[in-house]
Amino acid sequence: MRSVAPPALPTPETASIENTPSPPARTPFEGFSIGREPLAMPVEGAKSADLRDSFEEKRGATRRHEALDIPAPRGTPVLAVADGTVEKLFTSKQGGLAIYQFDPSRTVCYYYAHLDRYAEGLQEKQVVRRGDRIGYVGSTGDASEKAPHLHFAIFQLGPEKQWWVGTPVNPYPFLLGNK
Ligand SMILES: [Zn+2]
Repeated sequence: MRSVAPPALPTPETASIENTPSPPARTPFEGFSIGREPLAMPVEGAKSADLRDSFEEKRGATRRHEALDIPAPRGTPVLAVADGTVEKLFTSKQGGLAIYQFDPSRTVCYYYAHLDRYAEGLQEKQVVRRGDRIGYVGSTGDASEKAPHLHFAIFQLGPEKQWWVGTPVNPYPFLLGNK
């Protein structure tokens, strides 16, 4: 007698990835390479040596911060960290006045929040270049009025390219190297 067992099917790697919470991406992923130069500092005059990595910090009972806070006086210019397009100008209770910028490949979204105001004439679908002035530091949303800062986040967009959905990426390593 001879029984032939069917060969075991390979387990798709994605099955385990989907079922276990994965740590946030810390390295460049497909479509998002920092290349030869770091992202531009999103707050004029800020230095990478002054940045504090607050990505993992708790906000409330269950939420993670998943962003970087860069303190600066109210009205300090906020600059585009990379080339791209202003995808959405949005106001929310938490983020206040905010900008969602897509990179040219539309795989990455950069989020700038708590703005005091937008740069003059800034519009959705506007093409911006690395270092362009897009807004001004403020404390709109749930930021303390006494501590104006830029809340800056990066997330990897899903296939739907929805500006409000994505996988958070820690911006900290991508801003190092700025003088
Ligand atoms: Zn923040």
